[in-house]
Order: sequence, then structure tokens, then C-alpha cells
Amino acid sequence: EGKKSLNFIEQIIEEDLQKDYKKENLKFRFPPEPNGYLHIGHASSICLNFGLGERYDAPVNLRFDDTNPIKEEQEYVDAIKRDVEWLGFKWAKECYASDYFQQLYDWAVEMIKNGDAYVDSQTSEEIAEQKGTPTQPGKESPFRNRSVEENLDLFEKMKNGDTPERGHVLRAKIDMASPNMLMRDPVMYRCLHKNHHRTGGEWKIYPMYDWAHGQSDFIEQVSHSFCTLEFLPHRELYNWFIEKVSNPGEFEPKQREFARRNLSHTVVSKRKLLQLVEKGIVKSWDDPRMPTISGLRRRGYTPDSIRKFADSIGVGKRENLIDVAHLEFCAREDLNKVAPRVMGVLDPVKLVITNYPEGEEEWLEAENNPEDESAGSRQVPFSRELYIEQEDFKESANRKFFRLTLGKEVRLKNAYIIKGEDVVKDEDGNIVEIHCSYDPKSKSGSGTEESLRKVKGTLHWVSVKHALEAEVRLYDRLFTEETPDAIKERDFLEFINPESLKVVTGYVEPSLKDAEVQDKVQFQRIGYFCVDRDSTSSKLVFNRTVGLRDSWAK
Ligand code: ATP
Ligand code: MG
Ligand code: MG
Repeated sequence: EGKKSLNFIEQIIEEDLQKDYKKENLKFRFPPEPNGYLHIGHASSICLNFGLGERYDAPVNLRFDDTNPIKEEQEYVDAIKRDVEWLGFKWAKECYASDYFQQLYDWAVEMIKNGDAYVDSQTSEEIAEQKGTPTQPGKESPFRNRSVEENLDLFEKMKNGDTPERGHVLRAKIDMASPNMLMRDPVMYRCLHKNHHRTGGEWKIYPMYDWAHGQSDFIEQVSHSFCTLEFLPHRELYNWFIEKVSNPGEFEPKQREFARRNLSHTVVSKRKLLQLVEKGIVKSWDDPRMPTISGLRRRGYTPDSIRKFADSIGVGKRENLIDVAHLEFCAREDLNKVAPRVMGVLDPVKLVITNYPEGEEEWLEAENNPEDESAGSRQVPFSRELYIEQEDFKESANRKFFRLTLGKEVRLKNAYIIKGEDVVKDEDGNIVEIHCSYDPKSKSGSGTEESLRKVKGTLHWVSVKHALEAEVRLYDRLFTEETPDAIKERDFLEFINPESLKVVTGYVEPSLKDAEVQDKVQFQRIGYFCVDRDSTSSKLVFNRTVGLRDSWAK
């Protein structure tokens, strides 16, 4: 085909197509549990499933696996939909496991009638004790051989809320000696007298994951149900349940597993991310330091950069750790193409051009994006007093310092060549002003001999009089350790980077006056920034998405 080689998931599908599957049979789903915001690991799964949908022109459902009302909320449902859409994917149908509660119940009743399920009245501790070990068979429950009538009666009572929460469970009657522990009479239902975000108080029993997931796949006629590797041992049970509810000849979905993707210097687990929010370590689920899709969006990542990231790490059969530097690389690559260049000074010192007429100003042409001619140009104001970065000046320096020093020349971007002349210091010896002279004939783009003169450094700057003050939020890794949640006997919260956020006041060029939330720019020579949602017309707020270079690289 000339395309890149098939990954193992695509190979499975291709083989199925060679055998008994038709292309029309193909259907996929992305099945989040609405118990938190989606993170970068989910982005992998979204790109996998929706990517297959695009590749095979097949429908992909967005299915909420909402079987646990204790942890699930409408807020999460809304956030998940927003995130999938933002990544640029369209689901065929919006589905909810809770829409199948009645069907699941009816099937469970059938199973009881067929002797495939029974009500167990033991405590969960007792049930756990009887499970046995992988090398030793478990013990059968004393309730395993209840009559069908008694089971039906008790199950009905469970459903109506007439039994206490921990009084009974419904279990599948499979095999207490199975080498697969999950086949040892797994629990199908538990009593839970808790309001559900969609079904309210209608249900007093809720299905367990294994009993709901495959059946939802079957109801929707999903062809391939992809999940992460820890579900491999569940596959046998998945198939067993589907066999119980399907009729001969009906299309049966198949579960296949792929490896989770982990990202360095963060945690990808909704449960742990929730702790960060609840403990106030971050401000919200979309805090730009979070590895959530909404956090990355707010930080300034583009959907393209996340999709390319997911594609580039691909799918695999073994769990691995992806360095966050690779995600940052993907952001840089994409932003380089789409982010207009502007000038902003984050650590300012005043520069006075002593031979530039006082009170005068001029507007200079500046290219918006050297990577994109169609981006055009804009005007930036120049005047006698400018801000430059403190680190761009040293009174004296060695020959490797290609910035401003006394007696040496540098170019001001889009403007003139200047030469350091003098400094003004306060009583403590801090530099408060740098004085320099400029060469009026050296204006960028003017074509003069002087303008073509090569000088070693180019600095960014903003005109003091025209500059806009901005709050700039400089983010760093949220954790100091590569794998904060995989360190023996230590809690991941011990490894929070105390310097994950630094807030500075900077000055930016006036073209940013009307910048809108989510607008992305490159502050030249510094990095990529994005307008935060806290920004107002009177106070600009920028997030640093990523620096121009990987500052962590050795
Ligand atoms: P979490 O532990 O963060 O809650 P989860 O797997 O329980 O993760 P679900 O909402 O059940 O979260 O996941 C929806 C889909 O996303 C599942 O198919 C799951 O396998 C997949 N997924 C979750 N985390 C990752 C990850 N780190 N890498 C790849 N896929 C993932
Ligand atoms: Mg989960
Ligand atoms: Mg899950």
C-alpha cells in the first residue's frame, strides 16, 4: 500500500477481514468512565479507536461506562465530550451503559432461570476468602445451589431496594476451580442505594464492569473492543457472558488488548489526578500543569500536536514510559508552523537609545511567521526607550556572548543595530538603565549597505511607551521524578515539583491588545505562549506552553 506498516491492532482487523468479517461489520467504541477528566493516556485510546474508524470508514461510538454512581458525574460526561470533539473526532452515537440497565437486568433474570447465576448472601470478605489462590481451587458458596425461585425472589428484592446495601450480590455460576480467578463465580450485581447522574434513584442494583462492558459492546454490535492489557484475563469472562446472552449465529464482539501508555514526570490515572485537584495541589482539572486533555488545551497544545504525539508513540503490546520531552517536541513542531511571532520581554531592563530623538516614534514592519508566508506582517512601534531581557546584557563578557555588551554591536529584531555605551546603576550596584547608540542607516529591510551589515547577535525588545503589561505563567514539570507513582513505599504526592509554576510580569508588543483566549504566539527567542482564560481586556495573561528548546536536555 506504500503506507507505513500496520500496527498489531490493524493486523488483527486485516486478518478478520480476510476471514469472516465484512467491512460493514467493523465498528469501534471509546468507553470512558465519567469519573474524571480525560488525560493524555486516554488521548492514545481515542486516537486509536477513532483513527481506526477513519481508516476503515467505520462508526465509532462514544460510550460512557457509567455503572458506578459513587464516582460518576454529569460534569465529567460534559468534559469528556468537549475533549473528544476538541481533538477533532466525531462519534457515530453517544451511548451510555446506563441505557442498558433494563436489558442487562432482563438478561440476568434469564441467567438465573437457566441456572447460570445465583444470589449470594455472604459478605464480600467471606466471598473473597473463598476465592482460593491461582494454584488452589476456591470454595463454593453455601448459597450456590439456591433454587431458581428463591434466586428470582431475592434478585427482585435487591432490585427494589428491599434488601440492605451489603446484604446480597448476584454472582455468575461458572467454576470455582477455574485457573482463571475471574471465572470463579464473579459478581454481576451489587446493591447500591445511591443516585445515578442519569437514572436517578430508579436502580438499587448496579452491574459490575465485566457484566456491563461486553454486553454493551454486544448491544451496539461493536466488532472490536479494544482495552488495556490488564483486561487480558477478563477476556475469557467477556466471551462467556456474551455467549450467555447471544443467540447462535449472532455477531459477537471480540475484546483485544493493547498496552497502556505512560508519560514521564506526571501521573496518568484519573483517581490520582482527582487527588491533585481535591488537595489543591493544582487549581483545577484544566490546570495547565495537568496531563489532562483540558489542561494541555489550556496550556496551549493544539489538537494536531496531541494527535501527532499519539500517532508517533503508536500502539504496542508492552507498557512503556514516554518522556514528556517527546510531547513537548510535538507541541513545538506544530506551534512552529501555526504560531505568529511576537516580541515580549519577561525579565525587563530599560534600554535608552541616546541618539534617538526624544518624543519620536516610528512603526516598523515585522514578519508574522517565517514558516508561513501567508501569515503576512504587522507594525511594531519603536522609540527611544525600550525593554530588553536582563540576561541579554552584560557589562563585559567573553567572545562567546553574542548579546549586548559595552562597546559591542547587536541588532534589535526588525529594527536597528545598536552599540552599548554606558550603564546607570542604583546604590546597590544594580543596572537600572543601559545606554546605547544606534545606527540610523541600519534599519532592517531598508536595503542600505549598513542594514546588510552582519552583527553577531539579534535581540528582541518592546517599546516602553507602547508596551502592554502582561502576567506570564511559566510552567514546569509537576513532578520531580520520572515515575512519581512507581517508587517503592513512597507516595506520588511526595514528588511534587515546588517550582512547577512561576508567575512573572512581562511586557509585550501592542499588537497583542486584542488577543483572545486560546490565541497562540511565539515570543521570539523565548518560547510558545497561549492566552489563558483568566485574561481580560485590562490584564493579559499568558501561559508558557513550551520553551523554544528542551531546557532539560543534557
Ligand atoms: P484511569 O485509571 O485513568 O481512570 P481507566 O482505564 O480506568 O483509566 P477509562 O475511563 O476506563 O479509564 O478508560 C477509557 C479507555 O481509555 C479505556 O479503553 C482505557 O483502556 C483507555 N486508557 C486509559 N488510560 C490509558 C493509557 N494510559 N494509555 C492508553 N489507553 C488508556
Ligand atoms: Mg478507571
Ligand atoms: Mg476503566
